[in-house]
Amino acid sequence: MSPTAVRVALRVRPLSTAEQSQDQTQCVVCDSAENKLTIGINSNYRSFTFDHVLDDTLNQKHVYDTCIGSLFDKFIEGFNATIVAYGQTGSGKSYSMGTASDGVDPGIIPRFIHHLFAAVPDAQISATFLELHNEDLIDLLNPASKNISIREDSRGNIYWLGAQEQTTASPEQLLSVLHKGTIARSTGATDMNKSSSRSHAIFTVIMKRYISEEESSGDSATDNGGKIAHHLKQVESKFHFVDLAGSERLKRTNAVGDRVKEGISINSGLLALGNVISALGDDSRKTSHVPYRDSKLTRLLQDSLGGNSQTLMLACISPAEEDFVETLSTLKYANRAR
Ligand code: ADP
Repeated sequence: MSPTAVRVALRVRPLSTAEQSQDQTQCVVCDSAENKLTIGINSNYRSFTFDHVLDDTLNQKHVYDTCIGSLFDKFIEGFNATIVAYGQTGSGKSYSMGTASDGVDPGIIPRFIHHLFAAVPDAQISATFLELHNEDLIDLLNPASKNISIREDSRGNIYWLGAQEQTTASPEQLLSVLHKGTIARSTGATDMNKSSSRSHAIFTVIMKRYISEEESSGDSATDNGGKIAHHLKQVESKFHFVDLAGSERLKRTNAVGDRVKEGISINSGLLALGNVISALGDDSRKTSHVPYRDSKLTRLLQDSLGGNSQTLMLACISPAEEDFVETLSTLKYANRAR
């Protein structure tokens, strides 16, 4: 994979028991061996190819091992990484990311946390957890705090002034930071409208460690350059896990009052993210303008999308025929990223 490439993984969740009991038919067929997926109803079919197509039989470990390996390897060398989970509400974003529950089969973030502490026991690990709702930034680790702003230093590194960064010394501590933030996110929600479907959540793991010069394979995200011994240098990198607002909000038209503002804000975030990712993936546009400043979401992630960082879009879909329209729209969005 080229350093600037954006990879796209498409995951299909199984039909739920409720959908099965309603005899919902499926409108997608996966060919995971060929990474191809065909969607269709009424003999109107369309096929898409992605970097990975993960059908509903594949478990969380398979998803982690298939999709995260190269991001993980670069991250511990000092490069930034981002995973964005995209899809309509109920398509499996939180399940896949592993924020939904502890579950019997943990998702990407808990697996990543255990993997990280095992791989680099000497690293300094910390985390932040932000929610972006209506262009307002909420610190899920310190919800009372009101003043978070996005800043850029002279080296182009983005940092979030006012966001609590919690240092952790074990996988259990980092998992508890994740849980604390997840609970703060859901308690802000009303029953009518799950908060997680109306806001973006960004869980970020920050790693600082010393690596040998030989181990380093180029310019890392933050190369402090300060050699403390002959062959050691300090690197710092960020891994963002982004659970996006439900994509059905992208074209909500029947909204009133506050929901209009919300819809506009979600639209601008998801559209800007699509535009940035598409600009990064387009060889002919590599040197031209990447529109990070078009939304707070892309601005937040600016130093971790493109450049030397690794990006994976995990597009989640429902296989149910009743979700055909949303599923097709997710496939088109994900297809633009390639
Ligand atoms: P979203 O975050 O996109 O709104 P969820 O992650 O909450 O969706 O998933 C909706 C429901 O489907 C949950 O009950 C979840 O446990 C289930 N689900 C999603 N993906 C899978 C999967 N791959 N295997 C089994 N159950 C899944």
